[in-house]
Amino acid sequence: MMKRKSIYLLVAACLALAACAEQTETEPAETAPTTTDSPGPSEESQEESTEELTEWSYDGESGPEHWGHLHASYSACVDGSEQSPINIDLAEMEASQQIEEINIQYEPASFSLVNNGHTIQKNAVDENNAITLDGQEYQLVQFHFHTPSEHQFNGEHFDMELHLVHQDINGNLAVLGVMIEEGAENEELAPAWGELPEEETENDITLEEPINLQNLLPEDQSSFHYNGSLTTPPCTEEVKWIVFKEPIQKSAVQIQVFQEIYEENHRPVQPLNERG
Ligand SMILES: [Zn+2]
Repeated sequence: MMKRKSIYLLVAACLALAACAEQTETEPAETAPTTTDSPGPSEESQEESTEELTEWSYDGESGPEHWGHLHASYSACVDGSEQSPINIDLAEMEASQQIEEINIQYEPASFSLVNNGHTIQKNAVDENNAITLDGQEYQLVQFHFHTPSEHQFNGEHFDMELHLVHQDINGNLAVLGVMIEEGAENEELAPAWGELPEEETENDITLEEPINLQNLLPEDQSSFHYNGSLTTPPCTEEVKWIVFKEPIQKSAVQIQVFQEIYEENHRPVQPLNERG
């Protein structure tokens, strides 16, 4: 059951579209010709020199404040005007809210697991998960996690954040962001959590158990919508973001298991600019 309402964050007429998302392998090449974000299958490994140029991380000289200068194709990370993540001021957002329809069609599906060097990601094997936003259908491509959360509510982080990355037939991206707080064990993720690869993986690990993503969404599906970007290089804009207001829970152990692999993999919040 889902509530079909979601709160549309009115961003004046400025909307360029919005997202954080790790670069997906299926993303059109023109948006990220040299990204190494998902060093997946080895057929992608070409010129070593290019890969070195595009190496990025979450701290030090290749950290978020330097991303825009690491490679020409990352310029949006520093020049972009609608970047993600953002701090969401709950009172302000609710004052300007508008109910918008989002239709989520998730059902149990198979996934493969990869540690891409920046996060743990589950890639969709089936094509039976999709959302419909403003009448347009977006297929789920992958989902992954950040710690602490990338989006903030009233200046505060949550322990983690889940990003469900979707793409429409034209390659446009829509990302659902779900905050994760410490609490009960998340049973839907428990089987996969037992297999998290500690080191970067060369090949996807096939997960035996299907995952029902419906069980990873909060009961109250009120959400904030805004236009942003990928939260990883190349920080491509025109990503539609849907951020659920209600967090879901993971146990302290589940959070710790992730943080032992990635202690911190979040981009700081970005200026709202004209979206404010
Ligand atoms: Zn992400």
